[in-house]
Amino acid sequence: MSTPQMFTPIAGRSAVVTGGSKGIGFGIARVFAGAGADVLICGRDEPALRRAADALTGLPGTVGTAVVDVADPGSCRELAARAADELGGIDILCANAGIYPSARLEEIGPDALEAVLGTNVKGTVYSVQACLPELERSGHGRVIVTSSITGPITGVPGWSHYGASKAAQLGFLRSAALELAPRGITVNAVLPGSIRTEGLGELAEAQLEEMTAGIPQGRLGDVADIGHAALFLATDEAGYITGQTIVVDGGQVLPE
Ligand code: NAP
Repeated sequence: MSTPQMFTPIAGRSAVVTGGSKGIGFGIARVFAGAGADVLICGRDEPALRRAADALTGLPGTVGTAVVDVADPGSCRELAARAADELGGIDILCANAGIYPSARLEEIGPDALEAVLGTNVKGTVYSVQACLPELERSGHGRVIVTSSITGPITGVPGWSHYGASKAAQLGFLRSAALELAPRGITVNAVLPGSIRTEGLGELAEAQLEEMTAGIPQGRLGDVADIGHAALFLATDEAGYITGQTIVVDGGQVLPE
C-alpha cells in the first residue's frame, strides 16, 4: 500500500511570484520550485532577478525571470503573456511585490503616498487583473496576496501609508474572492509578522533586537515560513478556502 500524502503535489503547476528576486518572494519561489512547480519570478531589477534564478537552479521546478513593474498595468499584462508562453498558463499568482519606506505622517508627500499605494495596492490589483484569464483557464486558480499584520491588525509609527496599503489589499481580496469564486479561483492572503529579509536588513541591529523581543517565539520569521503558508493555500486541499487570511508571525499579535 502506498504511503498516503498529506497534500496532492503541486509539481508541474505554474506559479508567478511578483517581487520574487529577494526576500519573501524569493522564499515563496524557493518553496514552490522545491515542490516541483515551474515558477516565474518578477521584479524591476534584471541582475537581481538573474542572481535569484541562479540561486534557485537544481530544484525540481524551473525558475524563469521577467522584468516587471507591478505598478504599471501594461507591464503586468506582459508578465501574464510571458507566463502563458513560457509556462503554458498560470495556476498560481503570488501577488507579493511591495515596498515599505518609513515616513512620519507630516513627511508623506503625494509622490511617497503614490509610490506605496501604487506598488502595494494598485500593483496587487493590476497583477491579479492581468493573470485572470490564465488563472481561470487553469481550473484551480489560486491568488495568494502577501499582506502584513501591519495595517490589518497592528500599527507602527512611520508606516501609516504602508499600513493603509496592506489593509487595502484585504478589502480588495474579499470582494475579488466573491467575484472569482464562480470562476474556480480562490483569493487568500498571508499576513507575515517580522520576517528577516533584505528589506528589513536595512534596519539597525538594535531595532531588529527590539522587534525580536516582541515575538513570543523569540525569533524573526524566515522567508520559508511564509513560503510554506503560501504553498498550503496553493494546494488542491485548500480549494474550499477563499477570501481568508493566515497570520504567520510567531505569535506577535497575540499579547494583550
Ligand atoms: P524586499 O526584500 O524588499 O523584496 C521586495 C520585492 O518586491 C523585491 O523582489 C522587489 O524587487 C520587488 N518589488 C518592489 N517594488 C516592485 C514593483 N513596483 N514591481 C515589481 N516588483 C517590485 O521585501 P520583503 O520584505 O520580501 O517584502 C515582500 C512583501 O512582504 C511585501 O509586500 C511586504 O509588504 C510584505 N511583508 C514583509 C514583511 C517583512 O517582515 N519583511 C512583513 C510583512 C509583510 P525590485 O525592487 O527589484 O523591483
